[in-house]
Amino acid sequence: MILIDDQLTKRENAHIDIEDRGYQFGDGIYEVFRVYNGKVFRMQDHLDRFQRSADEIGLQLPYGLDRLQSFLEQLIETNGLSEGNVYLQASRGVAPRSHPFPEESRSVLVAYTIEGERPLEYIRNGIRTITEADIRWLRCDIKSLNLLGAVLAKQKAKEHGCQEAILHRDGTVTEGSSTNVFLVKDGQLITHPANNLILHGITRLVVLELAEELGIPVKEETFTLEDLRKADEVFITGTTVEISPVVQIDDYHVGDGKPGPVVHRLQEAFEKQI
Ligand code: PLP
Repeated sequence: MILIDDQLTKRENAHIDIEDRGYQFGDGIYEVFRVYNGKVFRMQDHLDRFQRSADEIGLQLPYGLDRLQSFLEQLIETNGLSEGNVYLQASRGVAPRSHPFPEESRSVLVAYTIEGERPLEYIRNGIRTITEADIRWLRCDIKSLNLLGAVLAKQKAKEHGCQEAILHRDGTVTEGSSTNVFLVKDGQLITHPANNLILHGITRLVVLELAEELGIPVKEETFTLEDLRKADEVFITGTTVEISPVVQIDDYHVGDGKPGPVVHRLQEAFEKQI
């Protein structure tokens, strides 16, 4: 079953109107939640970010977060989802095609579940990455449906036999195409500040909390491709990849080419939370 607005219905009953603004303009927002053992991890953080994204683009959600949470829980239970993800999106609704917000329209909300195990291979052995210019817009803090910049970067990574593209603006690393990026230097974590140039990742937030608990110092500061090259360890964070070590960037290995001790400590602490 899937959720459309306030109805749980069969997937074959779902139809997207050709004048849905999400479809025509990417005029909408989304969230991806991780489900462990039938329960959503950090549900409230994801719901709050969904509301914030909606507010930032002046999109009125059809109902409140409490109701949305109970619909999502119902969806997970109905589908018997134990391990996997929930995809949720809201578009500004259906209206004759014209750029400004329509006078009359109702946002369209859709959610569905995707079964899937944790990507243990990446988590344990690490991922390979390329670096790529960040050509996205200047409001990457909004989880908008416009993902073409991310799609192009991820495709390029795939063509190079890699799993992620680390994005940079004039040599300053922002984030991955669908992840946040951390480096470790002399026992300290460094990650891009949570401003308009990156998505304020929930997993990023969890790592900042865990680092504090573990007494690992953190700087939320910009760093360059050159800093990345000199890092002892590099890792990415995201709802679906959790905390995944980066073992290769373009044509060089990070550290000794194996996941390092700091990322291991964070992963262990993360496992306890999930
Ligand atoms: N950065 C970008 C551009 C993303 O698309 C995502 C996740 O989709 C993230 C970072 C990681 O965010 P989160 O940890 O909330 O999944």
